[in-house]
Amino acid sequence: MIEFHHVTKTFPQGRAAVTALAGIDLEIAAGEMFGVVGESGSGKSTLLRLVNGLERPSSGTVLVAGEDLSRLRPRERRRRRRGIGMVFQQFNLLGNATVAQNVAMPLVLQREHDPRRVEEMLDFVRMADHRGRHPAQLSGGQKQRVAIARALVTRPRVLLCDEPTSALDGGRTAEVMETLRQVRAEFGTTIVLVSHELDVVKGSCDRAVVLEDGRLAALTAITPPPECEQAGSYAERAARYL
Ligand code: ATP
Ligand code: MG
Repeated sequence: MIEFHHVTKTFPQGRAAVTALAGIDLEIAAGEMFGVVGESGSGKSTLLRLVNGLERPSSGTVLVAGEDLSRLRPRERRRRRRGIGMVFQQFNLLGNATVAQNVAMPLVLQREHDPRRVEEMLDFVRMADHRGRHPAQLSGGQKQRVAIARALVTRPRVLLCDEPTSALDGGRTAEVMETLRQVRAEFGTTIVLVSHELDVVKGSCDRAVVLEDGRLAALTAITPPPECEQAGSYAERAARYL
């Protein structure tokens, strides 16, 4: 689904250049939940931005479903980008819009508003009862679930998550990760999850890469914790764990 072939990305910095990514070769399969970990500045966000075409590689190729977004005309590229959802650490919700309006936004922008689809997504993330609230009236976990519903409302095949739980406490993190696992199970979405929280990646991803100074330091398959450890409510899991 997502392929990196010898990808290098440099940014000009004064007269010099910063190498954000160097020589990345990587293949992420359709339907996979794929983790990207690494210290601050290691190139994680740059890797995501190359996938949705917000950045172009300095050399090498990035393919999504066999297509090189950087070679498309701007209009086609924007169209393809709709097939790629994104969620962020700080949620990026519109503060003066309701939950339902936030989720509807991508459809409204492409003049394809579909209230039924919005309701479906609100149900899916268990936020239907809060559809009329504003983001300031929600917990962090609820805000992130709204952001996930908004990212999925256009039925993207790929969901890119940049530190989706880093602004949340443990309970809210578990709730958001449970939602992401359901996204994958229900829609077969390919999910790329950037996180510096190793537990989060270990608890949900099939495989992960470790980035170090823009290089791929490791690629590893993850053995999930036994099913029983993940089952149950947060309180049940916490009691069992402690
Ligand atoms: P963090 O965990 O802090 O979010 P990251 O792993 O996401 O870090 P990136 O944001 O991908 O790291 O940045 C990788 C490197 O590229 C850093 O040295 C950063 O300063 C540089 N960089 C990223 N974007 C730009 C840009 N638009 N212009 C110049 N340098 C950039
Ligand atoms: Mg980042």
